Order: sequence, then C-alpha cells, then structure tokens
Amino acid sequence: MPSCRFGRTFCGVIALVLAVALTLVLPIREVQAQTSAPPAAVAVAVTLAPRAGGATLMLDLTGEVSYHISVMQHPNRIVIDLPKVTFASGAGRPVQKAGPVSAFRYGLFFADRSRVVLDLSAPALVERVDSNPVDNHWRLSFHIGPVDAAKFISTAAEHVRDRAAIAAVAAPSGAGPVVADGKGALPLVVIDAGHGGIDPGATAPTGEAEKTIVFHLAQTLKERLEKSGKVRVAMTRTTDVFVSLSDRVKFAREQGAVLMLSLHADTLAYEPGVRGASIYTLSEKASDVISARLADSENKSDQIAGVEAREDDSHVGDILFDLTKRETRHFSHALARNLGESLPKSTSMHKNPLRSAGFRVLTAPDVPSVLIEVGYLSSAEDARLMQSDDWRGRMADAIGAAVEKYVGENATRTPNSAQKP
Ligand code: ZN
Repeated sequence: MPSCRFGRTFCGVIALVLAVALTLVLPIREVQAQTSAPPAAVAVAVTLAPRAGGATLMLDLTGEVSYHISVMQHPNRIVIDLPKVTFASGAGRPVQKAGPVSAFRYGLFFADRSRVVLDLSAPALVERVDSNPVDNHWRLSFHIGPVDAAKFISTAAEHVRDRAAIAAVAAPSGAGPVVADGKGALPLVVIDAGHGGIDPGATAPTGEAEKTIVFHLAQTLKERLEKSGKVRVAMTRTTDVFVSLSDRVKFAREQGAVLMLSLHADTLAYEPGVRGASIYTLSEKASDVISARLADSENKSDQIAGVEAREDDSHVGDILFDLTKRETRHFSHALARNLGESLPKSTSMHKNPLRSAGFRVLTAPDVPSVLIEVGYLSSAEDARLMQSDDWRGRMADAIGAAVEKYVGENATRTPNSAQKP
C-alpha cells in the first residue's frame, strides 16, 4: 500500500485539497522560499511500457510516496501528482509512446510537488496502481487502460467539480506579497525566466533546455541591474520550478512592477537557419506567421504542465482594449524600441527584430511587458553563443541599459502610477 491508511478515495481527496490549497493560497515568493525542502524520494527510473490494449507507467523510487491521479480534457491528459520527488535524470520529456499514451513528461511542478503528465491519443484512465518494493526500490506502477469517450468525459467533469469546490474554500485573500528590502522607493523590474520545472521549453542540439539557458541569463541580468542601484528586481521564479502564465502576470501586477521582461529562446522547427534576437509586444493579430506560431507554442506552457485552461482567461482582444485605454501599450512599445536600439550592440538580431503576437504572459493590463527571444535554439550558432558566459554578460549589459533608459524616461509616467482598478 502507498502511505495512505484511510482508503484511496479519502486520501486522494485530502491530497487534492492540500495540492489546490497550496496552489491558490501561497504567493510565489513564499513558495520559492520553500524550494530547499528535501525531496520525499528520488525517482531513479521512469518507464513507459505497452501492455495489452493500454500502457503502464512505472516509477522506481528510493522510498514509498503518496500520489494523486486526475484526468483533464482539452486536450485529454492523465495527471499524476506526487510530493516533491527529485528525478535522477532531471525533469524529462522522453520520446516514448505506448498504447493510448502519445507523450509524457515529468518534473517539479511546484515548490513542494512533482508531477507526471501523460498526453492521450484516445480516452483512457488509470485502472489500477501497484505499489511494491522491487530490487531495493519502491515501484509505483500505474496501469492505464482505454475507456469510452463518455466515461472519460464524466470522470474529467468529476475532477473539475472537485477542483472548483476546493478552490471556492481556499480562495486567496487578494493581498499580494510585499517586497520588504528597505529600497521601496526604487522602481521595481520583474524578470520572467520562461518555462521551468515540468515545462522545459525548447531544447538545444547539445541537450540544454531553454528553461535553464534563460534562467542563467535572468540571474545575470538581475545582478547587473541591482549593481547599478537604479531599480529593484524581482523574479517570477528563482529556481527550476513551474509557474503558470497567469501567475507570472499576477506576480508582476501585485508587486507593482514598472515593467516586466519575459526571457525566451525557442526553436523554429521549419526554419533552422533563422537566428538572432527578437523583441515582442502583445497584439491580437500577429505581425507575421512565425510570431503567431511562436505565441501559440509559448501559450501551451500551462497545458504542458497539466494546468486547466480557465474560463475566466479573457480573450487577448479584450485585454488589448483595456491596454489601449490605459496606455500600457504605448509604454510597452517604448520599452521595445529601447531594446531594439540597445541589443544589436551585443548580439545578432533577427532581420525584423520588433514583432508582435498574442503572448498570454504579456497581458498585464497595467504593467508594460515585453518578451525577448534572445536567440533561437534551432540555430546551432545561436545555441552555442547562448551557453557562453561572455554572451550572457553582454546581453545583460544591453538589456540592462535599455531598461535603465526606459525607467529614466518613464518611471513617473508609467500606468502603475495611476490608481489600479
Ligand atoms: Zn519559450
């Protein structure tokens, strides 16, 4: 038996209550402070194997852990939540499929929680879980079998209702975390290192993940900005953890940031020769096809991590109307132009570097926001550069100079100086 002595359903509900309460109640900063908590176990192997009509996912762990299983639609997924488990191979996205499982990935989902997400090509549920010691390890085997569409839909609806009931009880107070560093007078810049945890982003030919490359750049930029003493800096993630797109936006707003910079380094599967940095602002209609594809792929981050699409996520068109009203767009464009002048001094640029598309992470209505694709991991030359200390230092200088110029020109006129709704 797993570490649940009161029956699987009861313990499943308790685990779900705790998981959702943590997601809703703990602000990002507090959660990040907990990331040094020791893992409950190490997963030494994660294996997907076919079985008659279905598939089995096996987790070999250094100790017994509890688990919680749920399913989601749009697209169909099975999500297995675990306590904090360290994966010996790091967060992973193995190229394996079996039965109805078309792909799967695993990693840290939250400071104290890990997750496995299985994408389904046909409706399926976990029929049975075996939890046994095998060869000095504890093996959890999740046996997945096909079900008809109606059964899958009704099970997914049940799980949605469970989550909604728990969310109503655990609604946050609305009070955001406060940066108490004694430098409250300085404008606050939020740096958003893209992806993280179970969502690795793109992968370099050398195997390095986008989440790691942009995180190192974010840290270098933070140090560069703090050293100059003109701004304060907060990061949407301070470690390799998943943060949903809406939580990134919420964090920048609650912190009262004067601007947010989201850092990425994606791949262009059909255009491996394309390279150089691009600077993106939000628009409903993308400036070009590649930008539209890129925004679609970035906006899938929550889906990759097994987060449900929320019905209250407004359409980009509505948000743009709001942005125009508040002039946030004007400020975002001013910041993008500064970056467009500064970046070419330090790195190669895409031939059309100032572009726009419907990136969800850029939708804070009162925080001017810009997304920088610092290069493309699909370009061997860019991928090599992005992993060098020299390039990182030069990029941090160039971005830092553009940010300081923007803050010098606009700090007293940013939309945040007006009353928030
Ligand atoms: Zn990305």
